[in-house]
Amino acid sequence: MIEEIKSLAEGRIIVCHGDITTFKGDAIVNAANSTLLGGGGVDGAIHRAGGPEILAECKRIRSERLPGGLPPGEAVLTGAGKLPTQKVIHTVGPIWHGGKQGEKETLSNAYRNALRLAADSGVERVAFPAISTGVYGFPKKLAASIVYDTVTDFLRHEQLPHTVFLLFFGREDAELFLREI
Ligand code: ADP
Repeated sequence: MIEEIKSLAEGRIIVCHGDITTFKGDAIVNAANSTLLGGGGVDGAIHRAGGPEILAECKRIRSERLPGGLPPGEAVLTGAGKLPTQKVIHTVGPIWHGGKQGEKETLSNAYRNALRLAADSGVERVAFPAISTGVYGFPKKLAASIVYDTVTDFLRHEQLPHTVFLLFFGREDAELFLREI
């Protein structure tokens, strides 16, 4: 179940919490790693719930277009296998190394390039997890303002996606986000 907590930016951003694998809009974003071969956290949950089709498509993308893997900040699109959504946008957030290695810019790029891909694919409703704030260690408070600024800036200039769901796993993370923006 996904619970909506607050609507921002004239309804174009919805802050909510729940399990992203249950999202029924057009697309979800995966906080993948550069290998695109799956991992833990939200990445593992998406591949588990979506079944082997997503991984097969990721492997094809790697061998045909990205032999070195997906660089941090960039994004690619696959189908969604058995998930109740239509598309999965895989992006790679930065690993936090203290903040002096371009981590803020890379996080912003990950959101912006995922939104660009969503817009170019006609996606109207897309859900993002809190990229990099799990195993990759990006501070949640700092991520909040970067994510909010990046998404609102993108939506100011674009018609699509109509609605961006910022989907936190726990309610506390959603509330922390709302306090920091
Ligand atoms: P990263 O490696 O980019 O840090 P993680 O998957 O470790 O990615 O964590 C990113 C965020 O995703 C974390 O805040 C975590 O709480 C959240 N998360 C984990 N599983 C799910 C899920 N099923 N739905 C939504 N968010 C999730």
